[in-house]
Amino acid sequence: MKEFDIINQFFKKPNLLGAGSSLIESALKGSVVKSIGDDCAILSVPDEHHLVLSMDTLVCGRHFPNDALPEQIATRAFCTCLSDLAAMGATPYWFTLGLTMPEANIEWIASFSKSLLNIAEEYQCELIGGDTTQGPLTITLQVHGVVEKGKALRRDLARVGDRVFITGYLGDGAAALALISDGALDKVIEQIDKEYLVERFYCPQPQIQSALKIVNYSRCAIDISDGLLADLQHVAMASEVDIDIDIDKLPISSACKNLVSDATSLNFALSGGDDYQIAFTVPENSLSEIRQLIKDGVVVATEIGRIVNADTKSDDYCVRCFEQGKAVQIDDLLTNNKGYQHFAS
Ligand code: ADP
Ligand code: MG
Repeated sequence: MKEFDIINQFFKKPNLLGAGSSLIESALKGSVVKSIGDDCAILSVPDEHHLVLSMDTLVCGRHFPNDALPEQIATRAFCTCLSDLAAMGATPYWFTLGLTMPEANIEWIASFSKSLLNIAEEYQCELIGGDTTQGPLTITLQVHGVVEKGKALRRDLARVGDRVFITGYLGDGAAALALISDGALDKVIEQIDKEYLVERFYCPQPQIQSALKIVNYSRCAIDISDGLLADLQHVAMASEVDIDIDIDKLPISSACKNLVSDATSLNFALSGGDDYQIAFTVPENSLSEIRQLIKDGVVVATEIGRIVNADTKSDDYCVRCFEQGKAVQIDDLLTNNKGYQHFAS
């Protein structure tokens, strides 16, 4: 099967979405002037909004195991990429797909495209273009969203006095990776926990709905892809503040706790990557509102720390850990707190 046939059969609507799809009918879709089929897509951004975009690449053997199923690769690629839009408080609108495959395996492409378009429809995000090439299996997605002007959640907008919150659970991504790669597991795991964790890895839940609520009370957020400490460090540097975290408040799932020791689950929560939760900061004057949203279950989040004045004695802005109110050395908690970095060694 040749490139154009692949695009037409598997990626061009309405072949996959079908007539009557809620995606096509939804209000935002008037925004697509020209989709797949011309040299470029043509889109209109709603008035008084900014266009927000982000790209992620997943390489076979590095970001997913060689034996991952096409549907698992599709959902992981889409969800991890969409998480960046959540971190900005943006509403997903469109995405493009760079698909590089060693061969045109029709069954593989059919499963991949079906899963990709299905998960995209769940998040009301439309595939509007891409590129199809031959080579080692690599998936690149660029997601595009919109946010009301001046409302984007940014890493450089944490302010002293803000409280730090995190959506969902921390540590599941690292626990899932340990499980999938069959790494050093401390305990025998129940089937229900196993299924939960594998789902967290291949289908993490981008926190779009929570982020769209948070945007009204927060100016600063980041998604946790490289580990809580590593990602909060980016916030500390960008906002020129220090960040204090109460490690006894970190939300850790029972599945993660059931898989590994308490010390390891704390390690996973602090420095494991792949959680795709959103850490966000809330100023004092919006605290009661956000706490109420959490109480009502509208936003699933936990308060875990605060933004403080930068310590003038230290050379750098930093993230510090506290347990029962007492400072603890991060090095004592972790073997490696730097988060995952390509080309690190
Ligand atoms: P060009 O030669 O102008 O780069 P292509 O032949 O690469 O165009 O693609 C033709 C059309 O198909 C374009 O609209 C492009 O965006 C779209 N397209 C190509 N590959 C994909 C893909 N994997 N998913 C979605 N759209 C794609
Ligand atoms: Mg092309």
